[in-house]
Amino acid sequence: MPLRLFNTLTGKKETFKPLEKGVVKMYNCGPTVYNYAHIGNLRAYVFADVLRRALEYNGYKVRQVMNITDVGHLISDADDGDDKMLKALKREGKPFTLEAMREVADFYAKAFVEDLKALNCELPHAMPRASDNIPEDIEIIKKLEAKGFAYKTGDGVYFDTGKFPSYGKLGNINLKGQLAGARAAINSEKKNPADFTLWKISRNDIGWQSPWGKGFPGWHIECSAMSRKYLGQPFDVHTGGIDHIPIHHNNEIAQSEAAFGVPLANYWLHNEHLIVPTGPASAGSSGEVKKMAKSGENFITLKTLKEKGIHPLSYRYFLLQTHYRSPLNFSWEALEGAQTGFENLLFSIWSFSQKDLIEPNVEYSDSASMYSDYILKSTQDDFNTASAISFLNGIVHHSTSDPKEKLDILFKHFDPILGLSLKELSKKIGEIPERIKILIEKHDKARELGDWKESGEIRDTIISKGYRVQNFSVSKKSLVTRTMSSLI
Ligand code: AMP
Ligand code: ZN
Repeated sequence: MPLRLFNTLTGKKETFKPLEKGVVKMYNCGPTVYNYAHIGNLRAYVFADVLRRALEYNGYKVRQVMNITDVGHLISDADDGDDKMLKALKREGKPFTLEAMREVADFYAKAFVEDLKALNCELPHAMPRASDNIPEDIEIIKKLEAKGFAYKTGDGVYFDTGKFPSYGKLGNINLKGQLAGARAAINSEKKNPADFTLWKISRNDIGWQSPWGKGFPGWHIECSAMSRKYLGQPFDVHTGGIDHIPIHHNNEIAQSEAAFGVPLANYWLHNEHLIVPTGPASAGSSGEVKKMAKSGENFITLKTLKEKGIHPLSYRYFLLQTHYRSPLNFSWEALEGAQTGFENLLFSIWSFSQKDLIEPNVEYSDSASMYSDYILKSTQDDFNTASAISFLNGIVHHSTSDPKEKLDILFKHFDPILGLSLKELSKKIGEIPERIKILIEKHDKARELGDWKESGEIRDTIISKGYRVQNFSVSKKSLVTRTMSSLI
């Protein structure tokens, strides 16, 4: 079966054909590093990682590039307000200098990479920084100027969307309806409301020299320049959250295509948002919902999750349960439920390798081999991780097939695609230190003697130290494994 994916550019599911046989060039719009990434942002990057893993599993060699925006992203995507990095300098009491800006960016970029690692995301092959690629931005702006697509105003250089007839083609943006409201703060010097900054002249002398004055590039031109430099133009796959469709990605397309006369990317994939209920639910309504945003009060980071006892990979499991094109409601209850479900799965996987838990001489009537086909097909159906997770549950609970075969399939086929570290985690949860083993022996002895008070107390002690205690009929011994929160 060929790989099919939903392309925002055509609004359809399409069969994937890379430009070069067997190779995929992918660009992910990266974070703006003026703060920690929130767990909504991280949905975008777990999705990008699943995409890469699934493409690799399907035999492609993937080159993944993710930029780091460390200048030029204004408070509003439609070029209003201060630069987000300047906002961070103000917040952190730092001077308005490029050096201080770099320092702040270094800090949050490092924290972002740590988040990616904690979520078991493969690190991209390149993570270019916007501030390291200013000359490349200037070159494209000069080209746009020479071709008549750019014009100068008192505060910078703008792209003239009126000269680009297919402006707004990504996601079929209704310019008339949408722009009048969303881009209302119209600069009087702009020729069209949708025109956007290519170069912004600095109001506080911070920035780089350019033919148009000292300043900094617009956020959109940075992605056009970095994707072209690191992948060429056109390249295969471009990703981002759905909030990027109306402005950022349409702007990237307009400037790159206007400057070079070829498409920017062939497949545009967008993840839906992680949303958080903000208002109380009332009869007949499910309450208000809002996308998690860095500027909002509903800002939750991976650190917050860990403090609440949620392992980053439980969060990854939570994300994968929902298809990337469906909105996902965040709640602590749902997240805790996902962690328990994940822990149960890991426990079962651990038990498959425990000789004394497997009935001897059992003839298994079935094979689990069809599951390797199922997981492959779910990747090929627009990266359907929701069905992949139900197959994961399916194979683990497939009681008529050999546990050894199941382990083989899980580690060879499910692990590379889902990135849930099933092999490592299912081993780790069974690693019990000697002091706990002694407690378990005492507990089981007390049980044997019918001393339920004593066994209950020891059981509580073991649990309080971050373990799960279970009793099954196959074994007289208690089964003790670690909890996910104890592995954080
Ligand atoms: P930013 O750092 O604001 O540029 O955003 C980084 C990435 O996170 C972009 O791809 C956004 O589209 C995406 N994003 C922002 N908010 C959310 C959210 N609540 N849920 C999922 N993705 C998001
Ligand atoms: Zn971008």
